[in-house]
Amino acid sequence: MDFSLSDEERQIRDWVRTFVQKELVPLEQEVLRRERAHQPGLTTDELTELREKARKSGFWGVQTPPEYGGMGLSAVMTALLEAELGRTFVPFSFGGSADNILFHANDEQKQRYLLPTIEGTRKSCFAITEPGAGSDAKAIRTTARKEGGEWVINGEKTFITGGNEADFVMVFAVTDPEKGANGGVTCFLVDRDMGWRSEYIDTMGEWGPASLIFENVRVPESQVLGEVGQGFALAMQWIGRGRYLLPARAIGSCERLLSMAIDHANTRETFGAPIAERQAIQWMIADSGVEIEALRWLVLHAAWQVDSGLDSRHAQSIAKLYGGQKANEIVDRVLQIHGGMGYTRELPVERWYRELRLLRIYEGTDEIQRRTIARNLLKGHVKVGGTLG
Ligand SMILES: Cc1cc2nc3c(=O)[nH]c(=O)nc-3n(C[C@H](O)[C@H](O)[C@H](O)COP(=O)(O)OP(=O)(O)OC[C@H]3O[C@@H](n4cnc5c(N)ncnc54)[C@H](O)[C@@H]3O)c2cc1C
Repeated sequence: MDFSLSDEERQIRDWVRTFVQKELVPLEQEVLRRERAHQPGLTTDELTELREKARKSGFWGVQTPPEYGGMGLSAVMTALLEAELGRTFVPFSFGGSADNILFHANDEQKQRYLLPTIEGTRKSCFAITEPGAGSDAKAIRTTARKEGGEWVINGEKTFITGGNEADFVMVFAVTDPEKGANGGVTCFLVDRDMGWRSEYIDTMGEWGPASLIFENVRVPESQVLGEVGQGFALAMQWIGRGRYLLPARAIGSCERLLSMAIDHANTRETFGAPIAERQAIQWMIADSGVEIEALRWLVLHAAWQVDSGLDSRHAQSIAKLYGGQKANEIVDRVLQIHGGMGYTRELPVERWYRELRLLRIYEGTDEIQRRTIARNLLKGHVKVGGTLG
């Protein structure tokens, strides 16, 4: 068993580490200032400029296959990169990516949707959740009815990431109520100018998703992504594309936060000694160190399963659940170690506190991950003892 990185992996990881330090960390104070004035942390132009800078060094389309101009990196490598990006709260991601399910598009759709999304000239969003259907995605009620050569879509989607900024949506609608999720849900590619509208949803985080409203939105048959009736499988493929990536980013955030807590503990004195000398503080630091280490290996193990072509769903649920829980406990401890300063907006700790809370909700809540893990164990889909058991 070899836990070390190859020279190439180390080089790629180190390049991103340097990029974060040199290009992103210096922007942090300005990002905080803007966000506190209710503006986006980075403008679109700034994000594009940063992405182009990274592109010049080959960092473009991290998981996009090389035939589409991407790096086609492994899941393990991508997890390592996400952890590096997580070390800053500057809202950056590499350019050159597209939703995995857009690769199922036909040739004509690839020209109109996939390639411009990779190039960054078009923005997508993924819409399955509805006011009455979140964890229970099979309960969606948005309908698409066939009228002549067109589909007529009616319904409301909610909590759609990027829904206010996107110019097209991959929307899931019931095309056969009898069959429902078993062959009766279809995915449509719908441009904003075909008639849907969005409403921003304010959240406790620094960005908000949107509600999307479809009122008799008519789209030609050519807008079906994949096959009519096969949409639910596409939705599950999108959601399952990388549950390990969310906790991967949290590794970096927790490392940065723990470093802040260590610095503060070593310098803040109370009762004539640094608080680092108090066991209460030491235990918080020790527990956080242990949990970050455990999270790292859970994430990398899930990513390794993806790369090995194994069924990684169980390992990904474990990593997502543990990451959401522990990242929230760690940021809470780090805030506690900072005392009153941790609660202020002068430091970014409270920002991370709010941001990391989302990890326990989207792309499958804690409870839904537990449900999956328990079902796998109870039904014997996975062995007690894991892959080595
Ligand atoms: C910021 C943000 C961005 C999002 N982005 C997107 C997006 O881009 N596209 C998209 O389609 N959706 C998106 N979502 C939706 C997200 O996936 C759902 O919010 C999530 O799946 C939970 O669904 P819900 O909010 O309807 O909660 P519910 O399903 O109503 O759950 C409420 C509570 O009940 C618990 N619960 C539900 N069922 C069970 C059960 N069987 N056993 C035990 N407990 C249960 C849940 O865990 C939760 O605690 C986003 C959400 C947020 C907040």
